[in-house]
Amino acid sequence: MSRRADRCPSPKPRGECPGASPCGHPPAREETAMHDHRKLGRELGLFDTDPLIGAGLPYWLPDGATVRHTLEEYIRVAERRAGYRHVYSPVLGKRELYELSGHWAHYSADMFPPMDLGGEQVVLRPSLCPHHAVIYRSRSRSYRELPLRMAELGGMYRSEFSGVLGGLTRVRAIQLNDAHVFCTLDQVAEEARAALEMIRQAYAALGISPARYRLSLPGPGGKYVAAPEMWQRSTALLTDVLDRSGLPYQAAEGEAAFYGPKIDVQVTDGAGRESTLSTVQVDFYQPGQFDLSYIGADGGRHRPVMVHRSIIGSVERAVAHLIEQHGGAFPAWLAPTQLVVLPISDAEMPNAEALARHCTDLGLRAEIAGPERGSLGARIREARLVPYQAVIGAREAAVDHVALRLRDGRRLDPQPVSGVLTRITALINAHSTDLWDGAAS
Ligand SMILES: [Zn+2]
Repeated sequence: MSRRADRCPSPKPRGECPGASPCGHPPAREETAMHDHRKLGRELGLFDTDPLIGAGLPYWLPDGATVRHTLEEYIRVAERRAGYRHVYSPVLGKRELYELSGHWAHYSADMFPPMDLGGEQVVLRPSLCPHHAVIYRSRSRSYRELPLRMAELGGMYRSEFSGVLGGLTRVRAIQLNDAHVFCTLDQVAEEARAALEMIRQAYAALGISPARYRLSLPGPGGKYVAAPEMWQRSTALLTDVLDRSGLPYQAAEGEAAFYGPKIDVQVTDGAGRESTLSTVQVDFYQPGQFDLSYIGADGGRHRPVMVHRSIIGSVERAVAHLIEQHGGAFPAWLAPTQLVVLPISDAEMPNAEALARHCTDLGLRAEIAGPERGSLGARIREARLVPYQAVIGAREAAVDHVALRLRDGRRLDPQPVSGVLTRITALINAHSTDLWDGAAS
């Protein structure tokens, strides 16, 4: 855990760095390696892999699981606020399901081979859309229910070759932040715009910024469904959404989904490699394949449009990006340990335990690093990625105060415990990337 600080010319963690480089100076070659999420993930005890489980199948350690759980809960709450309802659907489906959705014809190279099961074949799903389309059509729908926003943080699988697998960015088992909005043609633009706004808010809370927006269009070759008029209509819709948003974007051929064009939000990793984190897609194809319909105000049967959207993409890739972006110094609301209590001597242990309990009661993740773990300086260095370090000496203990140090090096004058925790809790509940509001002392 200490190697990063030892090798880094500046001890400033990335979370508080204004520049593009994590330490406020141009990235050197060894630094790029230093912010490789695979290396940091192992050093910080976030995740790991084992050849016995298999390539591309990482497991999450307790601190990594805490980050992931917190991120997933942020997304679920944001989605509920935006009018989405969550569902669960199985990670397997019959081969016929994917034949109907078009995946079998256009996407099977990325799918695991089917498993024979009592005379039928089942497949590990390559996406969640087919299940959601089936849930939509499980009963009759009225125009009054639209837009019907269906969300799921669900598992899906991709048969990546072992040569391209690495850490959390290329995995075979994926947890996707997915949603499908079933809506009328008139509602598509507003739903796409609202999804872009959710992405903007999530990026602000996560302290990440897009490298660029990409309008992903079909290219040559047979991997796209052949329906020129449909592609024109959906591309015109997304182009209009992007133009009205004022966001700069570039069109790229050969990057669309097989069923429709996409707005992709691209991010770059420490080595400058670009990947897609978030996406908004318009799909006229799968609603037709699944014969989806709703009863309109005119009493007639109409076909809905599907807007596919993901705010943070796969949880694996999102966490990989966050690890690299922040060098392990996550925003306080996302940090595995948010506050470390540092009693100067054994005499302050009762106060330290009371403070840790107080934190737990408030929903904060706190731990005590007592004198048995070494000198105060050593313990502060050990906890340098923890947003808040609460030092308690004899003077503070006598009046139930705490001397707070922030991860960015700021130190606050000793002050009452309850006031400090109130302010920290408010910042964390607001998903702020600021460690403190106002002057440090
Ligand atoms: Zn989808």
